Amino acid sequence: MRYISSRGNYPEVGISEAIVEGMVPKGGLFLPEKIPQVDVFSFSRADYHEVAYRVLAPYFCEGEGAYTEEELRVSLRQAYNLQTFDTPEIAPVRLLSNGVGILELWHGPTAAFKDMALQILPHWLLLSKKKLGKQTTTVILVATSGDTGKAALEGFKNIAGTEIYVFFPDEGVSLVQKMQMLTTEGINTHVVSVEGNFDDCQGMVKTLFSDTDFKARLSNRRYELSSANSINWGRLAPQIVYYVWGYVKLIQSLGLGIGHEVDVVVPTGNFGNILAAYYAKEMGLPLRRLVCASNQNNVLTDFLRTGMYDSKRPFYKTYSPSMDILVSSNLERFLAEVTKHNFLKIQNWYIELQQRGKFKVDATTLREIHAVMRGYWTGETQTLTTIREVYEREGYLLDPHTAVGYHALKQYWEEHEDRVPVLVASTASPFKFNEAIYRALFDEEPPHNEFEALKEICEKTKLLPHRAVMSLEGLPVLHKEHISPQEGKSYLERKLLSKKHLKLKKIPPQS
Ligand SMILES: *Cc1c(COP(=O)(O)O)cnc(C)c1O
Repeated sequence: MRYISSRGNYPEVGISEAIVEGMVPKGGLFLPEKIPQVDVFSFSRADYHEVAYRVLAPYFCEGEGAYTEEELRVSLRQAYNLQTFDTPEIAPVRLLSNGVGILELWHGPTAAFKDMALQILPHWLLLSKKKLGKQTTTVILVATSGDTGKAALEGFKNIAGTEIYVFFPDEGVSLVQKMQMLTTEGINTHVVSVEGNFDDCQGMVKTLFSDTDFKARLSNRRYELSSANSINWGRLAPQIVYYVWGYVKLIQSLGLGIGHEVDVVVPTGNFGNILAAYYAKEMGLPLRRLVCASNQNNVLTDFLRTGMYDSKRPFYKTYSPSMDILVSSNLERFLAEVTKHNFLKIQNWYIELQQRGKFKVDATTLREIHAVMRGYWTGETQTLTTIREVYEREGYLLDPHTAVGYHALKQYWEEHEDRVPVLVASTASPFKFNEAIYRALFDEEPPHNEFEALKEICEKTKLLPHRAVMSLEGLPVLHKEHISPQEGKSYLERKLLSKKHLKLKKIPPQS
């Protein structure tokens, strides 16, 4: 497979280069030159590894810098096993009484769906560097408002040839999320709290990425900066797999035949997860429509209705913080696909977005989009009401992100009577978001200490919390550094460029 730039501004590259580069150096995102087809009928007995292998092989095992079939299989075994996930199904489907299938994507080590990709991406990065003969140490910089940080730490922990630095805003993340990050083990992990809010923190990291002088000095010491966010094709591809898997599981548990159409609902932020569903559909999976669910930051809902993407609007902090996003990076890949790689259009829209914070697509493009996707959004009160309703009816606890999706489904059904079975992507364990769950179940202010809220929720529901949060309270805090947003560069210089550091033993690249 060859990968092209969504803006047509870069030579085609092989899979290893696409993974190591992350994004197109001149702006734009890598996408596969063509979309391979899968035979869904062949999956009825396959386990998760086999589905993953067959879905991913055409993307990874052909062309320049490709992996061997054995390398791909080994990486799948390293990422998805019973040490990393708590069920051999990896992503089980839970059927509700109304026939809706909840695709649980949070059985990995950190209780959020980002594990599905971040458990495997580090292995691919290592492999790709080896294929390209790169001897550098990759320095992963992550600014996080919660979920991505811990998932990236767990994925990159002790991976040879990498150092990971996670920066989180000291006024931005929940106690559970903070404890998850600060207790991470591993010889190459670094977690730093940054004074201020998420924007300050993200601004600091973006400044580091664009500092060419700093990067040159790092490069002299064989360091290369990289990010772990969903603009990397290596984060997107593993997500295609679970739609194929979830589709087969849903169809089988409903006693229907493979080939039957299904609608998919995805709680959306950066547009990565729903884009993976789109690729699954284009690969031949019988998905009828994709429902894009947003919270109060409803820029995508408006876009899907009007064709106008307008990021210039107020930003709301919501109960579903991982969807609090106004510029959804992966939308660019979707637009490149629906316009059949019309690079000129993409370039114009993204120049508009950069200069004016908005752009409008033409009527033809909007029609193409509408053929596959609908958008709905869910407010804060409705999010809590949905959690409570589903809990009371089913004894099943949705996390706030999944509740946004579930409520979008209700709205979608009101507007569309031609129902088919539905798969709702469930993106996090409810026990990561105890404040919102507490409000939903008890209808009162949660206790100040989030672990108290967690205890009360477990007592009331008799549910066992996810293992990722269960033993957190007693674990030692291993990371204690705190900096201001202005200190980012000097902090990393101290860590990576000072003489003292040179004497420290680095993790040798794997042979
Ligand atoms: C990241 C995240 C999302 C949004 O996914 P995108 O791929 O960015 O659209 C939704 N829910 C949770 C819990 C997340 O962590």
